[in-house]
Parts: sequence; C-alpha cells; structure tokens
Amino acid sequence: MTGERLLQLALRVEQDIFLVRQRGREVAAAVGLEHQDQVRVATALSEVARDLLRAVDGADVTFVLVTDPPSGRSVLRVDLAPVRPLPGGRYEPQSGAVARLVDMLGVVPDGSDTVVRMSRRIPANGQALPPERLAELRAELASSAPGTALDELAAQNAQLIAALDEVRSQRDELEVLNSELQETNRGVMALYNQLTEELEETNRGVVALYAELDEKSAQLRAASESKSRFLANVSHELRAPVTAIIGLGRLLADSASDPLTAEQARQVGLIRSSASDLLDLVNELLDLAKAESGRIEVNRTEVDLRGLFGQLRGTLRALAARPGVELVVEEPPAPATLRSDEVLLAQVLRNLLHNALKFTERGEVRLRAERRDDRWSLSVSDTGVGIPPELQERIFEEFYQVPGTTRVGGTGLGLPYARRLVALLGGTLELTSEPGRGSTFTVLLPLDGA
Ligand code: ADP
Repeated sequence: MTGERLLQLALRVEQDIFLVRQRGREVAAAVGLEHQDQVRVATALSEVARDLLRAVDGADVTFVLVTDPPSGRSVLRVDLAPVRPLPGGRYEPQSGAVARLVDMLGVVPDGSDTVVRMSRRIPANGQALPPERLAELRAELASSAPGTALDELAAQNAQLIAALDEVRSQRDELEVLNSELQETNRGVMALYNQLTEELEETNRGVVALYAELDEKSAQLRAASESKSRFLANVSHELRAPVTAIIGLGRLLADSASDPLTAEQARQVGLIRSSASDLLDLVNELLDLAKAESGRIEVNRTEVDLRGLFGQLRGTLRALAARPGVELVVEEPPAPATLRSDEVLLAQVLRNLLHNALKFTERGEVRLRAERRDDRWSLSVSDTGVGIPPELQERIFEEFYQVPGTTRVGGTGLGLPYARRLVALLGGTLELTSEPGRGSTFTVLLPLDGA
C-alpha cells in the first residue's frame, strides 16, 4: 500500500489527547468520511491515545491516505508510533468496542519498531484523490489552527447530544415497530382462530357426511342382499311348477295319450316351448342370485387350457352349424396351464362363445389364449353386429339387451353372470367392440388363480 502523509502530531501529555481527537475528526472530514465515521475515527483515536499514554511516554501520530490496490479505494490510516517500545511489543485496547469503531486496529511492525495502526475505508464514491487535491488537503490541514481543549470538549458534547438524540429516536422507532408487531400478531391470531373454527366446522360436516354415507351403503348392501335372497327363493320355488308344466305338455303330446286335434297339438307345442324358455330364465336367475350372494364355491385345480378348449370346440360345433360362420378355437401356447375352477371357467367361455355365435351372421368366431406376463388372456372375438360404445357397459346389467337384438332370444342375464363368475375367479371381463365389425370379450385371469 502506497501512502500520502497528510498530517503529523505529537502525543505527549493528556491535553494532546483532545488535540489528536479534534484533528483526527478534521482529517476524517477532509478525506470524505461521513459524519458518523468521522466521530468513530475520532473516538477510536482518542481512546487509543489515552491507553498509549498510560503505557509509554508518548507517541507520534501520523495520518496517511493510502490506496488499497485490489479495489483502488482510499483508506484513511492512522499510525501511532510510541517513542519507546510498547511493553511486551503488544497493544490491546482497554475495551473491545474501540476496535469495532474502525475497520482495522492492531500492532504492526514498522521498520525496526512497531506501531499501533488503525484504518477506515473511505466510501466507494471516495475514489483515490488526484495529487492536486491531496496537496490542497495537506495545506488546508497544516493551516487550520487547532482549537483549545475546551473547544474540543464542546464539540464532543455536541456529538454526545447528537448520539443521544439518535438513540432516543431509534428507541421511539422501536416502540412504534413493537406496537405494530403486536397489532399484527393480534390480527394473525384472530385470523388463525377464525380458520381453526372454520376447519372444525368443515370437519364436523365431513364426519356427518361420512356417517350418512356409511348408513346409506349399509342400506344398499341390505337391499342388494334381500334382492338376491328374493330372486333365489322365487326362482327356486318356480322351478318345480315350470318343470311340471313341461312334463305335462310332453305327456299330452305323447302318442300314447288320447290324440289331439291339429290345433290342440299346436297350442300344446307353444305351451311347452314357453315353459322351457321360462325354465331357462328361472335357472339363470337362480345362478345369478347364487353368484351375487356368494353362495358359489370356487374349486381351484390345475386347469389344462388345451383340454378345456378341446371340450368347448366339441360342444359348440353343433351350434356353429350356421353356413358362412366359422368357429375357430386356437391351440393355446404351452405350457397351457393355470390354477382356476375349470367348471366355472368353462361356463363363462361357453356363454361368451354362445353369444358370439348368436350375434354373428358372417365371418368367424375365434377363441384364443395368450400369456401376458403373470396373466392369461382368454378372448372370444367375432365379426358380428358389434355393440355401440354407449351400451358397452349397459350390457353387463341384468336383463339389458341391445334394442333390435331381442329377436334372437335370451334373457339378458348371461353377461352379468359371466362377469360375476370371472370376479370370483380373481379376474376381469372386458369388452372392445365396433358396431358392424364385431366384438371381442376378454377374460383376464391371474396365473396362480389368486
Ligand atoms: P342374452 O344373450 O341372454 O340376451 P347377455 O347378458 O349374454 O344376455 O347379453 C346381453 C346383450 O348384449 C345381448 O342381448 C346382446 O344385445 C348383447 N351382446 C352380447 N354379446 C354380444 C356379441 N358377441 N355381439 C353383439 N352383441 C352382444
């Protein structure tokens, strides 16, 4: 660091402390330190001067303006060189607070001696002063006559009053801030209480809603159970009389009985076919009611899909006799086994194939098995009438039949029953279909049957 010496003073007796203080403030002002910093430098200087006079006979005080090379900024440096070496070569300010008044305060070697040095940075706008200005400054400082100790005391008093004023106004500000803070706190608490209340209110509402929901679902469960029970009982009770009607019809039409007129024979035929439709309905109702009330027992064994597919091919061939429709049962890929209930699974596939054949006029009906990771996908696809998208869920409802398809017969109970059975087997039954192009019903089953 290069330096421009501004002023030098001798510190020998107590009165010199005032002088050092006063001139210190003047130099600080001259180099551009602001008021507060001027007071800081002057105060630090007078404290250090007082401490030094206690330890040594005196010191030479030099004010230097240096330029800090990295930042190019000016720094006011004050060196206090004791006339005799410092005891122990050390200097500690009496109070640590003194060191905080400046940027640096410490003992540094200076040639063969040591000096007490302090420095304070001049604010950013105080760039290194041009040489002319420095010369001016030196002349100014040399010419200004130092005031008396009394002048300095008066100045010091004025500074003290200003500092006290500052402290008071800060305290007032603090009080205002405090009361504002309390006000805000009260507001926040009020808001918090209100929110808590609203939350509790909402919670009470939600709890009540859930209780109602629970009650409603219990009612719904009870209603569904009594429906299943009713269906099971009624269909069971209907089976015997309907079977009796069919039997009696057969007897009437028997060649061993009294001969019937042609009209009577036609009417007996109608009675018999209606009764057998009724029996189908009753049987399907009974199956569905059993599946719904969980009264169907699932009996899991190792199912060989090739065997099962072979069986279905055999039993359905007769049905597929319609010309122009081919029934294709693909050979399942090996190892074609899974754990499931063979009887129930056969019932589901038969039902789907049955439907596919029923609703296909031309083309083919195909049964295919595919392994997909840990599942089997068993699909029945056809090239039949297809099902409009908006009805693709409805056909799984009981008794629902797509309008216009009823002439082929049926009860509308097959698909809901099939879906129940697949669920019992731990799988799902899905449908993709395009009207006029065909439908694919897919049974997805877990390999282990769980
Ligand atoms: P059902 O066949 O006894 O009428 P389902 O529950 O098996 O009862 O089927 C319900 C309805 O779904 C059928 O009436 C028919 O309208 C439609 N459906 C079922 N399978 C097919 C299919 N493969 N192609 C076109 N429509 C179908």
